[in-house]
Amino acid sequence: MKEYSLGTKCVQGGYTPGNGEPRQIPIIQSTTFKYETSEAMGRLFDLEEEGYFYSRLQNPTNDTVARKICELEGGSAAMLTSSGQAASFYAVFNIASCGDHIVSSSSIYGGTYNLFAVTMKRMGIDFTFVSPDCTEEELNAAFQPNTKAVFGETIANPALTVLDIEKFASAAHAHGVPLIVDNTFATPVNCRPFEWGADIVTHSTTKYMDGHAAGLGGCIVDSGNFDWTKYPEKYPGLCTPDDSYHGVIYTERFGIGGAYITKATAQLMRDFGAMQSPQNAFILNLGLESLHVRMKRHCENGLAVAKFLQQHEKVTYVNYCGLEGDAYHELAEKYLPNGSCGVVSFGVKGGRKAAENFMKHLKIAAIETHVADARTCCLHPASATHRQMNDEELEACGVKPDLIRYSCGLENAEDLIADLSQALEQI
Ligand SMILES: *Cc1c(COP(=O)(O)O)cnc(C)c1O
Repeated sequence: MKEYSLGTKCVQGGYTPGNGEPRQIPIIQSTTFKYETSEAMGRLFDLEEEGYFYSRLQNPTNDTVARKICELEGGSAAMLTSSGQAASFYAVFNIASCGDHIVSSSSIYGGTYNLFAVTMKRMGIDFTFVSPDCTEEELNAAFQPNTKAVFGETIANPALTVLDIEKFASAAHAHGVPLIVDNTFATPVNCRPFEWGADIVTHSTTKYMDGHAAGLGGCIVDSGNFDWTKYPEKYPGLCTPDDSYHGVIYTERFGIGGAYITKATAQLMRDFGAMQSPQNAFILNLGLESLHVRMKRHCENGLAVAKFLQQHEKVTYVNYCGLEGDAYHELAEKYLPNGSCGVVSFGVKGGRKAAENFMKHLKIAAIETHVADARTCCLHPASATHRQMNDEELEACGVKPDLIRYSCGLENAEDLIADLSQALEQI
């Protein structure tokens, strides 16, 4: 079959209706599915046949949308989750358990940092955080014999650092573990981490993919490139019999490209049930249909706003990898040649207090715990998403106490700039 361009996949991927079938994807709003015989259902429970039996594990609407995201990322299999947090948790917990260790970039989303450093640590999984800018030697030194994966964000929220995916992938592979990349901010429109050696991609679809602040969701995509069977003692969950499914061995039954997502569905969805509702999956798909069109505008607005802020006398610094001279501009040129995202961060003269004061005067940008919406929004992370962190921890994840995160929506750039300008005048 012909490989379509990315924009065509955004619009048409994942679903091809047959003659007389609905043009839009059907919302299968059903918790359960009917069978003629107990034997037929039994075969599903033994993972011998594919099919639906209960929407806590799988739902046809969700699978249709997961298939589209899988095509966009160029993966072998994918699943939706109820949130980005659930995606991050499943992605790691699917291959790590008590006594294991993960190497993670320190420049990650605050919620992910809490999940790793507090909650998963309580489950007995240890994390070593490394700067995304670390040398290869520093990165290699972070690995332990019990390390099971490496984690990072393509463009980190909110620090806006850019991950050197090839550097992290080659260190991961040299130690026989996969690289998991949270690709939420770049989206597959601007970066496809598998092309640079990443093995698993996660998303908070709540952000640009949905793009309208309408539905919470997450997604995990497997590249199908990491060969778990080379390290059976490291990944027993994928390479040895699963007693909760009559001894199925995921890599044998579902292959290298299917084992990881099947296990996450069969075990983690079964036991935790962080499933996206089919209604939300439908809303997500509406967002995906225009993702390639919207990302272009978000990036244009991001660059225009960043350039305006950069030359303003009351602005102390601007982080935006699209700006020449930004610390991550070179990495952005390599990994994000068509644009990065619409999120810009900056500081204003007068520090923390001035930042709070400035934000009060913005008329278009609303103060929200959100980014990547069609409507411009902003946040002071040190008082909100990152308020559990002390100054040292803030510094480590690249968030200054005075940092303002400004997420450019789809409005006209000249209006955003005029709004920023009048608010800056008032401090
Ligand atoms: C928002 C976000 C998450 C968490 O996603 P939710 O859908 O809010 O659970 C994870 N990673 C990144 C980069 C995010 O921006």
